[in-house]
Amino acid sequence: MKPLRDKTDPAYIVPIHRASLSEDVYETLVSHLISLRVRPGERLSVDALARQFGVSQTPIRAALIRLETEGLVVKKFNSGYSAAPIPSGAHFRDIYAMRLLLEPEAAFLATQRMNKEGLQQLVELCEKMANLVKGDTHANYGRFALLDGQFHSLLASLCGNQVLADTLHGFYAHMNLFRLRYHSAVAEEAIKEHQAIMEAMEKGDAQAARAAMATHIAASRDRMEPYYQTEE
Ligand SMILES: [Zn+2]
Repeated sequence: MKPLRDKTDPAYIVPIHRASLSEDVYETLVSHLISLRVRPGERLSVDALARQFGVSQTPIRAALIRLETEGLVVKKFNSGYSAAPIPSGAHFRDIYAMRLLLEPEAAFLATQRMNKEGLQQLVELCEKMANLVKGDTHANYGRFALLDGQFHSLLASLCGNQVLADTLHGFYAHMNLFRLRYHSAVAEEAIKEHQAIMEAMEKGDAQAARAAMATHIAASRDRMEPYYQTEE
């Protein structure tokens, strides 16, 4: 892995300001992991990363702890952190089956109790995603995955059913999914599908929001299916 400080590296992300240093470190690591620049199983040394990023060990440790919760890195006793293996095809199929059961219902409920603020936040996330697809760059891998995750999480939080929201959050479905495939064409299709969900929500049409979410999850599943790991 090349150092973050090397400005000729396409992965170099200009730190926005010092307050967001931890976020920059986290986001850069997400990009490295999702683009498979860091291969599944590859060791992630806190010390080496701190040197490469030109930061102290604190933000590196914080990012790794967060990534472990999200299933992108694993910590083994005595051997530290490494990039998580890519989950099996069966795991992805199970996750999609659950999302298809739960997320359309979350969209239905969220539309029924939607407020202006929630709607505005969702629209902003959609706009950010639309701005990202203009370039198929390394940094976009991570950012798109994070924003898509935030969009689905926020929608789930707005449904008013805490158990449903917590269940969906617990899947951390997006991060590993994007390790299978990121492509601006994939992202463009997802953006159109999000738009259909938003149109239904803006109209307050809960049935249409439920149908649009089901269409999005099923389309996402079909886009990713060819990239699942083949298994015996
Ligand atoms: Zn989505």
